[in-house]
Amino acid sequence: MCSTNRELLKAVVANLDEITRLSKAQAEARTKGEAALATQLDDQLDKTYAVKERSVGAWQQHVREHGC
Ligand SMILES: [Zn+2]
Repeated sequence: MCSTNRELLKAVVANLDEITRLSKAQAEARTKGEAALATQLDDQLDKTYAVKERSVGAWQQHVREHGC
């Protein structure tokens, strides 16, 4: 595994952590009946999910092209 591979993977993991964090926050907001906050977190989750998908794509492309 080369250093670029490690960097790309680190980005994927960071995005996954952020998704976990936002999911927990959203669950908490729902439990507390904070509908507006929950909706806002839902939006953020959608965006972070899209970023995560792109980071996974970038990592997969690197693995394919570099063979590492
Ligand atoms: Zn590589």
